[in-house]
Parts: sequence; C-alpha cells; structure tokens
Amino acid sequence: MCSSPSEEVSLQILPHPRLPDVLLLPVDGPRYARNAVKQLSSEVVVGAQCGTAVLRGAHVFAPGILASPKYMKVGDVISVFSDLEGKCTRGSLSFQGKTAYLGNGVAEMDRSSIFCSNEPVRGVGVRMTEPLYQSPSFDGVLPNLVFLQNLPSVVVGHVLGPRPGERILDMCAAPGGKTCHIAALMGDQGEVVALERIRNKIDRIRQNAQTLNLSCIKTFCFNSTKAVSSDPTQETEGPPFPPESFDRVLLDAPCSGLGQRPNMASTWSLKEICSYQPLQRKLFHAAVRLLKKGGVLVYSTCTVTLAENEEQVAWALDAFPCLTLQPQEPHIGAEGMLGAGLSPEQLRLLQRFSPELSWEQTDPTTTPLPCRVDGDTIGFFIAKFLKN
Ligand code: SAM
Repeated sequence: MCSSPSEEVSLQILPHPRLPDVLLLPVDGPRYARNAVKQLSSEVVVGAQCGTAVLRGAHVFAPGILASPKYMKVGDVISVFSDLEGKCTRGSLSFQGKTAYLGNGVAEMDRSSIFCSNEPVRGVGVRMTEPLYQSPSFDGVLPNLVFLQNLPSVVVGHVLGPRPGERILDMCAAPGGKTCHIAALMGDQGEVVALERIRNKIDRIRQNAQTLNLSCIKTFCFNSTKAVSSDPTQETEGPPFPPESFDRVLLDAPCSGLGQRPNMASTWSLKEICSYQPLQRKLFHAAVRLLKKGGVLVYSTCTVTLAENEEQVAWALDAFPCLTLQPQEPHIGAEGMLGAGLSPEQLRLLQRFSPELSWEQTDPTTTPLPCRVDGDTIGFFIAKFLKN
C-alpha cells in the first residue's frame, strides 16, 4: 500500500499476473464522475506539458503556471486548468481559450512571486489536493530498486529477451528506461551499448543507470544511422561498430508519439507526423547490419500510425529477406492492424497496444485490476525479428 501525498488515501499496489518484475500502480479517475472533485471559481491555467504531469500525479511547479487570479495568495484554494491550444500568455489574469480541468489545489506561492521575480522561478506553485486523477507519487521512493515505466515499455525488454553475458545494442536510448530494464534482466552481466543522438539527454541515461547500480551500460552520444563502421575489421569500444557486433538490437524508434497518454494538446502537422518513416528506415538498415546472424531485433514505437508500424514491418520483411517475424513473450497487447499487406499470421505475431481505454468495456466492479491494466495503456507497437 502507498499513501498519496495529495490526500490521505491508501492506494493498492499489485503485482502483474504475468510479469514478475512489474508492480502495477492504479490511477483513480476521472473523479468528477463521483462528485469527488468540483470546479471552483478561482482558476489557475498551466501549460500543456505541466498539465500532462499533473494528470500523472505531479503537483503544479511554478514555471508551468501561465495565468492566475490578480490577488492569488499563499493558501488560496483554486481550480487548475490546462491550456489546450498553447494560446494563454504567461502572466495573464484569466484565460477564455480552450482548457481542460485537472483538479483543485492550494497555492504555495502568491502571484507576484510567480510572475514578478527577477530570478527564474522554481518549486511547487500549487499543491494538488484534489487531483482529477489520483495517482501515487513515487518520487524518491526506493530509487535504486524501482523504476517508473509504462507497461508496454516493460514488455519490450521481455520481448527482446536479453541473457546474461550477451552484447546488446539500444540504438535510441534516452532517457534510458528500456536500457536499464535490459541491463537488469541480464543481471548486469554482459554489455548494453546505449546510443543517443542528443548530447544533453545522455546524462539522464547515465543517472538512471547509476541510481539503479547498473554498471554494464556503456553510453555514447552518436547518430545511430551512422553506427556501422566502414572498416569491418576495426574493433572499437564505441561507435561506429563492425557489422554483426551484437547478439540483440533494440530499435525503440523516434516516432510521432501519438500513443502517448495523457496528451493535453498535439500541435503536430501532418508533414511532421509523416517525417518519421524515412528516419526509422535508415535506423532499421543500421540495426540489421549490426545484428549477428541468429540474433534478435526488436522494433518498437509509441505511436499508432500504420506508416510507422505495420508498414515498416512489411517494408523490412521485403527489404531484408534474412529477417523473419517471431512470436512475442509476453503477448498482452492486441495483434497488428490490417492495411499494410501483412498476412493474418504475420499480424498475429505483432503486438499493438491501443491508447483508448479498452478496459472501460470491462466491468471494474467484477474485473480484477491486474487484468484491466493490460488494456489501459499508452498506444504502443512491438515487432520482433530473427536474423537468419
Ligand atoms: N528507448 C528510450 C527509453 O525507453 O527510455 C526512449 C527512446 S525515444 C522513443 C527515441 C530517442 O531516440 C530520443 O531520445 C531521440 O533523441 C533519439 N534519437 C532520434 N534520432 C536518433 C538517431 N539518429 N540516433 C540516435 N538516437 C536518436
């Protein structure tokens, strides 16, 4: 049991019925259905990123606040809303645009400290006392033993199936959630090479590995599309690597991220959404070359488009005759989607998690939580290949 900081409530934490290393944290909400939370007349508006964090159990940090009442003082009880279209100007007194209600809280700063300070503002601006979604905070709880992840992300590590002593490549690694899970599954024995193109994300991977006491992770800032060495005889510790250097490769690809939940506002253009397929294919080329014969390649995304998922699988099977699709363990998501020319047998080998609340069709009073959570996830896609 865990006590949530926002209210004196006890929340149950349960083991996953099929994944022994997973504990399930139930999220209770939306709570207005039971009149547990009511909107107040005094309002604070926050940015979409802050709003997303609040829906996941965070308090409102002051830099996220865009609008507040003119005379807001420490201790005022207020309703918190998220700006859905990015139109609220920082420092506004009120906002008439499109918003989503997030719950109620108590101001920990007055308006002038938030907007009129000469120093960059820090710390909690509003402590959420009645969040719309009640979620236990794990901030600082057993930091070297537990790691917060979405369920499909944990499934990826198991599907990859790393074994102690192997050499694994994680091509797009930051912030390192899957890298650390892979290293933990290997009992920290072997080598997990984590590549990430953006330099300032590298520290997060290293911090996470350090916190979890995982020493088999080697992190490099590198563009993975260029990770195959042109000199196949050159053995180096870091990238680029000779072809067939790795027992298993994870390509958790950069993607349009349309499966992310909660998602307060998406400002993506169609052009941006369509821009990922070519990059994913370049990364896929490198992944196949770097994988040993007999090795396993897992391709995953946190999006729902056919173009970034099933179409990529159909393309890969055509472009690389050495690849075959493999069954996944565990397989707790749905099968792949029709429309990319894959056979029914091939679709059954793919794993697709839907961001819609499919568990809502089940009766929460009779269906045990561990069964419901498998259908209440972010949108996600996983394909597993063997290189013959
Ligand atoms: N696997 C990560 C985890 O579980 O924590 C999440 C990875 S996120 C979906 C994709 C990452 O790929 C981003 O951090 C992005 O900066 C990185 N990336 C994008 N293009 C890349 C490239 N060409 N080479 C290496 N990393 C890249």
